[in-house]
Amino acid sequence: MQSTHLRPVEFDAALIVKHDGSGPRYTSYPTADRFVTGPVVQQYLTALQKRQSERPQAALSLYVHLPFCDTVCYYCACNKIATKDRARADFYLDYLEKEIALVREQFTKQPEVSQLHLGGGTPTFLTNLQLERLMAMLHAAFVFTERAECSIEIDPRRLNVGALELLAKHGFNRMSIGVQDLDPAVQKAVNRIQPPEVTQSVLEQGRKLGYRSVNLDLIYGLPKQSVQTMESTLSTVLQWRPDRIALYSYAHLPERFMPQRRIETEDMPRPAEKLAMLKLAVTTLLEAGYVYIGMDHFALPEDELAIALDEGTLQRNFQGYATQADCDLIALGVSAISRIGDTYAQNHRDLDEYYAALDQGVLPLSKGLTMSADDLVRRAVIHDLLCQSEIMIPAFEKQWGIRFNTYFAPDLQQLLDLQADGLVEVTDEAIRITHKGRFLARIVAMRFDRYLRETRSSAKYSKVI
Ligand code: SF4
Repeated sequence: MQSTHLRPVEFDAALIVKHDGSGPRYTSYPTADRFVTGPVVQQYLTALQKRQSERPQAALSLYVHLPFCDTVCYYCACNKIATKDRARADFYLDYLEKEIALVREQFTKQPEVSQLHLGGGTPTFLTNLQLERLMAMLHAAFVFTERAECSIEIDPRRLNVGALELLAKHGFNRMSIGVQDLDPAVQKAVNRIQPPEVTQSVLEQGRKLGYRSVNLDLIYGLPKQSVQTMESTLSTVLQWRPDRIALYSYAHLPERFMPQRRIETEDMPRPAEKLAMLKLAVTTLLEAGYVYIGMDHFALPEDELAIALDEGTLQRNFQGYATQADCDLIALGVSAISRIGDTYAQNHRDLDEYYAALDQGVLPLSKGLTMSADDLVRRAVIHDLLCQSEIMIPAFEKQWGIRFNTYFAPDLQQLLDLQADGLVEVTDEAIRITHKGRFLARIVAMRFDRYLRETRSSAKYSKVI
């Protein structure tokens, strides 16, 4: 085990303000907005066949996107469908079944799955019967390993009685609970009324049922939020002691996301207040013993994410930070993104198009990308920066067969201002993000993103502040 050298982090407000800009979260590289249309189905099938011949035993990760929500939270930028009609989920499951069958056809025997994540939307929009049906469909097509990590995103406001027990029976052992803020005025302003006792009760039930690594999502920068509301929310949340806390920045982009137009502009906190909230949250979480994992994530020292950070085995994938080695991912459902080997493939984002493709008996893919040699090497750089805060140059050169300083000469030039401000240190041996650079790790990563540099487009991404 390495020492805990990765854990220290320094909050430097002036540098955050100076360098903060729009940027990707790098849950993939290249990022999904670089995917292209074309022979995606063929590329994906080729990737699956290659996997079948080269590494048939390798375990898979599965993601299922369940897009329905009872009501819309005004801050939300996810791909979701607001409805109260549960029958729509039955119809959706009919199509998921078709998609699963098309994927299953590509394997000679049931593939092994070591990770499953149900995301949304609101996966718990499904009735217990619908959840049972979904699990039966997945278990008929795939074999789950004994220690498979099964996780689900929970909306505690309308969780069906018995849903957590049912999921636990099917091997679910992790949950992520959406909270965002506990202040009643903030909850009203974002159309998400969720009394603290509702959240607490779900969290406690989950723990009793053996769920571990319980995550709570918080957001800063919401309408009506202030340092005071943040302080009060954190004080309650810390009494619950969740294993993990994700602290996301709200990006107000009403021109892009329709529900955000329902937010009153005058209710939005000013940038200085937002920065003060972030500072308060970070300081409070660190003082309460949480470890800063990276980007938006904190975890208790005994949580697997903090251990993986210490051991240098932390990973980053479409769900954010993770502990399991980078496995191939099969993603099912509208808008879901798969990655098999070097190939990314994304399903249609539009539900009608998703259904129409399956009606024709073809995989419902709309765009994707097969990574070039350059994509792969840059992906490794960005991974190391975001997961280990450093790149060990000699080892990297050996692994990738390149002369680092030559290959990345233009990129290294772009680091000069960040070096001058003490966010990153560059020697012949290593590139290392400093303690005060850790909050801006993605700004460092962006300097190695070839697509970003070539198109100079970053305005559609979110900011730290
Ligand atoms: S935040 Fe979650 S529950 Fe709210 S609208 Fe978005 S996906 Fe649905």
